[in-house]
Amino acid sequence: MSWGIDNLPYGVFSRPGLGPRVGVRYGDHVLDLAAALHDEVFATGSLNAFLARGRTAWRDTRAVVRNKLSSDLSVVEEHLIPLDQVALHLPFEVADYVDFYASIDHATNMGKIFRPDSEALLPNWRRLPVGYHGRAGTVVVSGTPIHRPSGQVRAGVFEPSAKLDIEAELGFVVGVPTEMGSRPGAFEDHVFGVTLVNDWSARDIQGFEGQPLGPFLGKSFATSISPWVTPLEALPRIPGRAQDPEPGGYLRRQDDWGLDITLEVRLNDEVVSRPPYARMYWTPDQMLAHMTANGASLRTGDLYASGTISGAEHAERGSLMELSWNGTQPIKLADGSLRSFLEDGDTVTITATAGDVTLGEVSGTIR
Ligand code: CA
Repeated sequence: MSWGIDNLPYGVFSRPGLGPRVGVRYGDHVLDLAAALHDEVFATGSLNAFLARGRTAWRDTRAVVRNKLSSDLSVVEEHLIPLDQVALHLPFEVADYVDFYASIDHATNMGKIFRPDSEALLPNWRRLPVGYHGRAGTVVVSGTPIHRPSGQVRAGVFEPSAKLDIEAELGFVVGVPTEMGSRPGAFEDHVFGVTLVNDWSARDIQGFEGQPLGPFLGKSFATSISPWVTPLEALPRIPGRAQDPEPGGYLRRQDDWGLDITLEVRLNDEVVSRPPYARMYWTPDQMLAHMTANGASLRTGDLYASGTISGAEHAERGSLMELSWNGTQPIKLADGSLRSFLEDGDTVTITATAGDVTLGEVSGTIR
């Protein structure tokens, strides 16, 4: 069972007269942790207080929950609430939000589209994980309607974006903070788990505003995340992929590992892509090391996303920009229609699995 004992992601739920409070998903139920564990840290409307407790508490809590659910179900049965009776909320208060650009296939595709006459990858790309700071206040939970943004799409022309796009990404949730001027310890001592991210992007707004400073209003209008945060402990690891040149200094890794997660992007229930996380070039521990390399501190609730996940194949591209090659090669949908970017009323749903573990879904409909 994909929502079984090896998964157990955390979220925030409410139902009439109860909550919002922290729960763990088990099958088609959510376990009310404050009631089941008699711990008030879970009686709040976000995961943050629990995230701040750190790795030992995360591990111990998971072990206790697993034990209760596998051997002592009658005791916790009264605290298992059917999912169809609850509303799911943003699982944590997002402190800072950083978005990386860690897929070599995505970066290469974008380079070819925007700079067809020069090298696809800029000189810094293989030397550091490129990223930018996004807008934490517009990170919303799956299911939140997305309003088509307006902006300056050409010089002096302010109008609704005609190139509204998605970016299928994986987000990493920071629990344990650091002081300014210090470096974090081990990745697993700071990062609690992962969530699915759709980094909605208005390509025409982004294209006009982005030179030379990078993403701003073309990205900041909305970023959707899944309601469940899957602990790192639940994710199977695979060998990492080679990096050339070998990163030195602060980007050298303690251990060589990767995550074998396959995403699926559905546009109005039709699968348009299956991006493979295993092909990502820069790793989440390197992203953490990089974003703190200058002494910038971490806060509980920081979210950093991988950047668009794309594979080598056409059917593995994690954005419509790449799938339609900036509208020059529209994708053909099952009903025969051609599509380059999102239309009003479109629903995009991104799901993901890591072996038997499902990461759930992040979904949004364009208004
Ligand atoms: Ca992105």
